[in-house]
Amino acid sequence: MKYENVGIIGAGIAGLVCADRLRREGVAVTILEKSRGVGGRSATRHLDETSCDHGAQYFTVSDPLFAERVAHWRDHGVVDIWQGRIVAIDSGVIRELNETRERLVGTPGMNSIGKHLALNLEVENSTEINRVERSNERWRAFDDEGQTYGPFDVLISTAPPIQTRRLFTEWSPQFAEQLDSIEMLPCWSAILRFDSRLPVDFDGAFVNGAPLSWIARNNSKPGRGPSECWLLHGSAAWSAVNVDRDPEESGKALVNEFWKLFGGELVHPSSVTAHRWRYSIPREVLPTRSLFDDQLQLGCAGDWCGGPRIEGAFLSGHALAMSLLEAR
Ligand SMILES: Cc1cc2nc3c(=O)[nH]c(=O)nc-3n(C[C@H](O)[C@H](O)[C@H](O)COP(=O)(O)OP(=O)(O)OC[C@H]3O[C@@H](n4cnc5c(N)ncnc54)[C@H](O)[C@@H]3O)c2cc1C
Repeated sequence: MKYENVGIIGAGIAGLVCADRLRREGVAVTILEKSRGVGGRSATRHLDETSCDHGAQYFTVSDPLFAERVAHWRDHGVVDIWQGRIVAIDSGVIRELNETRERLVGTPGMNSIGKHLALNLEVENSTEINRVERSNERWRAFDDEGQTYGPFDVLISTAPPIQTRRLFTEWSPQFAEQLDSIEMLPCWSAILRFDSRLPVDFDGAFVNGAPLSWIARNNSKPGRGPSECWLLHGSAAWSAVNVDRDPEESGKALVNEFWKLFGGELVHPSSVTAHRWRYSIPREVLPTRSLFDDQLQLGCAGDWCGGPRIEGAFLSGHALAMSLLEAR
């Protein structure tokens, strides 16, 4: 298979890692990203002088290849260990976690990882691709304003499965079938800012048996600054039931659940900002790290291929790049 240039839809961890690997081998890569930034769900929301991670909260490392890259990120100040005290809350009862594994975070925000990966890459931001087309063995992508990108020899999507399916179904029924089997769970998040520190002696908690699944003091992560800021995630079940609710109402409901954990309101938040992740994490993943059709020169990667989370997205993007390089 011969190719000169590759188009990648999505500048999340999978798309950026894939692009970076290909670029290092001299392949010309263009990334098409619908949002204004990079990093996808490894995201940080800026609010006046504060910022808060409202998607991925931290990551863990088990694979040696990922460990090697994380060590490089640590050397360059892109990530650091979160030393916060993390507990579990089971039906209102606090329990210590007997864990030794390290939790790492981007510094000064989870979006630092994406920003670092994108440093030498060509990213077309604010570009939402809603159609792709193949002619003369090359791919073109079209955004919602009628702008055309390409032609590309190879086209890759790292958008969540439903969005990738919409784009690729006409061209690859085989991919469409596999994409159909992946369900992405929704998650409502709420960012709470406070004028003073809450009298809470832990920094993060997995919440079980409640409408919340996770709460974290964002400013306990390294490099965040002193302003007291808490992040709440609704459970998958609660978020699914409330998925179409107004953000303000969802935010209020999550704040009420937060106070219930402490037996009542501790300090009134100065602001509450809710965000809905319609596709937050996969319920289950495909058994393969990536999908690639070398006849069609079409591929997919993401945290729903081979393994979930940031580590899974990294390994998936890397695996797809290696498939392309081997096919050349
Ligand atoms: C609420 C929440 C909590 C999480 N917690 C953790 C955690 O604690 N630890 C952990 O390791 N992981 C966590 N995750 C998961 C982690 O964020 C993901 O596994 C990882 O970021 C996925 O990367 P990705 O590149 O596969 O996909 P994404 O990050 O989703 O990247 C896909 C990109 O494609 C873009 N896109 C989509 N459609 C189009 C289109 N049509 N045209 C152009 N661009 C498009 C999107 O804007 C996005 O930037 C969490 C995720 C969420 C949402």
